[in-house]
Amino acid sequence: MNQLIRAPHDRNREPPREVPLQQSVFFFGNGKAEATRDDRDLLGGKGANLAEMTNLGIPVPPGFTIACPLCNEYLDRKSVPEGLHAEVEKSLERLEKTAGKGFGDPHNPLLVSVRSGARVSMPGMMETILNLGLNDETVLGLTELSGSPRFAYDSYRRLLQMYGDVVLGVPMEDFEHLLAAKRLNNHVQTDAELPAEALQALVAEYQSLIKNATGKAFPRDPREQLWGAIEAVWKSWTLKKAVDYRRVNGIAESPGTAVNIVAMVFGNLGDDSGTGVAFTRDPSTGEKLFYGEFLVNAQGEDVVAGIRTPLPITAMAAKLPEAYADLMRTQSLLERHFRDMQDLEFTVERGKLFLLQTRTGKRTAAAAVRIARDLVSEGLISRPEAIQRVPAQQLDQLLHPVIDHASRNGGPLCVGLPASPGAASGMAVFDADVAEMRAARGDAVILVREETTPEDFHGIVAARAVLTARGGMTSHAAVVARGMGKCAVVGCNAMRVSIEDRHFSVGEVQVNEGDWITLDGGTGEVFTGDLPTMPSEVMRVNAGTLAEEDAPVYRGFAELLGWADARRHLKVRANADTPRDARVARGFGAEGIGLCRTEHMFFDGDRIQTMREMIVAHDESGRRRALAKLLPMQRGDFEEIFEAMDGFPVTIRLLDPPLHEFLPHGGEEAKLLARTLGVTRRELMQKVDLLRESNPMLGHRGCRLGVTYPEITEMQARAIFEAATAVAQRGVLVHPEVMIPLISTVKEFTHQRAIVDRVAAAVAKESGHAVKYLVGTMIELPRAALTAGAIAAEAEFFSFGTNDLTQTTLGMSRDDAGRFLPLYVERGIFEDDPFQVLDVQGVGRLIQMATVDGRAARPGLKVGICGEHGGEPRSVAFCHETGLDYVSCSPFRVPIARLAAAQAVR
Ligand code: PEP
Ligand code: MG
Repeated sequence: MNQLIRAPHDRNREPPREVPLQQSVFFFGNGKAEATRDDRDLLGGKGANLAEMTNLGIPVPPGFTIACPLCNEYLDRKSVPEGLHAEVEKSLERLEKTAGKGFGDPHNPLLVSVRSGARVSMPGMMETILNLGLNDETVLGLTELSGSPRFAYDSYRRLLQMYGDVVLGVPMEDFEHLLAAKRLNNHVQTDAELPAEALQALVAEYQSLIKNATGKAFPRDPREQLWGAIEAVWKSWTLKKAVDYRRVNGIAESPGTAVNIVAMVFGNLGDDSGTGVAFTRDPSTGEKLFYGEFLVNAQGEDVVAGIRTPLPITAMAAKLPEAYADLMRTQSLLERHFRDMQDLEFTVERGKLFLLQTRTGKRTAAAAVRIARDLVSEGLISRPEAIQRVPAQQLDQLLHPVIDHASRNGGPLCVGLPASPGAASGMAVFDADVAEMRAARGDAVILVREETTPEDFHGIVAARAVLTARGGMTSHAAVVARGMGKCAVVGCNAMRVSIEDRHFSVGEVQVNEGDWITLDGGTGEVFTGDLPTMPSEVMRVNAGTLAEEDAPVYRGFAELLGWADARRHLKVRANADTPRDARVARGFGAEGIGLCRTEHMFFDGDRIQTMREMIVAHDESGRRRALAKLLPMQRGDFEEIFEAMDGFPVTIRLLDPPLHEFLPHGGEEAKLLARTLGVTRRELMQKVDLLRESNPMLGHRGCRLGVTYPEITEMQARAIFEAATAVAQRGVLVHPEVMIPLISTVKEFTHQRAIVDRVAAAVAKESGHAVKYLVGTMIELPRAALTAGAIAAEAEFFSFGTNDLTQTTLGMSRDDAGRFLPLYVERGIFEDDPFQVLDVQGVGRLIQMATVDGRAARPGLKVGICGEHGGEPRSVAFCHETGLDYVSCSPFRVPIARLAAAQAVR
């Protein structure tokens, strides 16, 4: 049956081609290929680009590619797919004809490389074998052809070494020992100095090693070698490092790898040969500068192995001038053709240039921004394309301090979840009070905890960074630190924390209180010692310590985001709880506040004491006395926040967390509170015990607090309206939006709304100045989503609290999920952590339904999202597609959300 499949298609290019399904092997050579760059899904990035370069007339050694699906078939069936032997044989014959050599021909041997190449590049994660086709006979032919026995035996020993290691499982060290012994006996420093006889002897030693280690001789038959190598490449798809790389980089498990079989060209044939790697632009700055390294008289792996120091690419102009001129022409052709920065591998054989690979070059965020802008000015891409070229998440790199990686010596001590980016060094401290005390003394500290609770808040504020052994990406430490733009690594399971003994250990290493550690919140790495960090350029401009004209990275960042702003439909707001956060958020381009968590204001300084007085009060009048003390504090904060957000909406959420989170758990704090309240410590602790709940996240929290203690809602509404009136009278444009948390029925909403409206009217009457405001609600419980129509009839806006909505929809505690979610993701039960990437099928379905039902009941209902997903690019794309009005996220994620919202517009 001649079934057809559609080849993957690039929208900017010619119409899709149809490729017969039964074709598994695709040939390229002599200026013509059976595939193009559009066949990336089928042939992997390397295979598709080798075909494309061949079609462009660029010198590429001939070869063929076995398509990716064959890898899966092989891994499923554990045997070579039917019919493939014949197809490979046919392509091999074609390759022999094209190259004018024979595979296994003792007089004129064809040698090939076998290399992996997945759809998404996974540098260094899978296997490569070079020089296949050599044996005791063909090595003589190669000697004759090259005129160099040294070259021929060097190629042979490399094959034995690579094949022995990768295919036959003989440890690489065993080969290295023999090689080192040869260097020693020959009194030379490098492999390149070993004479032909030594290499010939080494070949014999390697052969014995393989025989002794495996019980079988190295296969002399080139075809047996070839199939051994092909199967090894397929198997390398499942190597742990490859699996880990895909998991960390969000690459799908299913596609498998292609296998590229390419005629060898040799860079180690003498001083008129060489090999190198290059980028068409500088991958770390993005500058338009051909950038790379090469080695004369060397093979590919010598450049990466670091045994010989490569020369800068410019030195090639003097050593191999013609090949260099060709390389310059080719790199510029490739960049114009692929319309992006390319990463190239090349070899020069006796003065002639061959390209072995081209792919889109990996780059830093700074380079990504600069290259995207420059390609627009060079007329190669449009602005909408430039917007797509910078991974939104990568912008993080530009905002947070970075570890000066030049200073790293050795690997990390352990790795946790990269909860909040940035880098920070400090002395490990094990409780919040010590953190605060030492920070007040001017010490740089990192708060290390098993996990954090809201009680640690002051410690988090005082610390430079937070490290926890437990908890997930939306655990308390993660959310709070991210909100503050503070570096955090959480859920570092390898750590054993002992708060009593004031140390943590990872294996044999113990870190005591006061020892320096450094965290990289972008990678989750934890290092011992004080590695230097520096603030980013963008941050220095935002802080006013660097002028824009001296900040090229900032200018690129600002321009790109300007293009994004012009394109996006979604508004971007920030989750900000303090005047300082509000100002930072404005600096990052936030168009208002989508969530002000008022409870965070109560943790600050002496306020927590007053808050506790309110909570443990015996009756309403006791509560009202404490609330009266909190009113001016809250009003003051609101005034500053309204001022920072002049002209933009500010959504203020009424008190939400379970009250016990504010309570003392004993010690000095309890003593102090008992004294203030005029009760004994015992009486106080009895009250505290009464307030304890078995399941506080589903307990006395959210609007349930306002329903049971209406005076709290009254005080908060009064603080909001008095602050709004005061700043409005000073000429500030205020748009307060009062938000009722965690409702499950519309009656809870109307109950709370009545209080808010009553207080607003009272303040307007007292001041003689009415402020316009909205009252809306968070949708955080499935029942609220399911009854959205009824709720929207009363509420003027919805804000999806997707942290709670995720935990309540999945029935999975956001504080405890860190213990099992990583395994769920690893096993593929969940594709992503639903607390990080919105669960579109479940939670997303509720959001979609509630938005439609809500807008049916109240046309024009304003709808946003304020959970952590509001700053996650894929979740932002979902919000765009669902027609939300805005996303709201931590200030430091605002630029990411701005770019992601523009990228969602197709
Ligand atoms: C949420 O639940 O998504 C939310 C924003 O509220 P919080 O994280 O404060 O519970
Ligand atoms: Mg919530």
